[in-house]
Amino acid sequence: MDNCLFCKIIKGEIPSIKVYEDETVYAFNDIEPQAPVHILIIPKEHITSAADITEENSGYVAHIFEVAAKIAKEQGFSDGFRIVSNCGDSAGQSVKHLHFHLLSGRDFTWPPG
Ligand code: AMP
Ligand code: ZN
Repeated sequence: MDNCLFCKIIKGEIPSIKVYEDETVYAFNDIEPQAPVHILIIPKEHITSAADITEENSGYVAHIFEVAAKIAKEQGFSDGFRIVSNCGDSAGQSVKHLHFHLLSGRDFTWPPG
């Protein structure tokens, strides 16, 4: 989608540090990490947010969670990580392309702020 930051990252028009890529999913380091490990995992197809997940595209989400588990295992943090997807302005979604934050390397509080 034109003017979408993450679509531009997928196309290589904006640089990113790639962590993982396959036909449907791209993962890269967050530019402003909130934890020692802060990776964003996104579907290559433009989906605006978690509110737009449907029967047709939910397979991407299942795959993203598989990829998250694979990255956690490979990078050695399977014993403690958090996956977050902010949906909508009130939840702090600043980029309107569905993404999952994969965070690790420190303790996390609950409930979130
Ligand atoms: P959210 O606020 O949940 O929409 O998350 C968007 C995330 O994208 C934030 O954690 C930003 O730090 C991150 N971000 C914004 N621009 C870039 C970029 N060019 N490369 C990597 N991460 C980015
Ligand atoms: Zn997009």
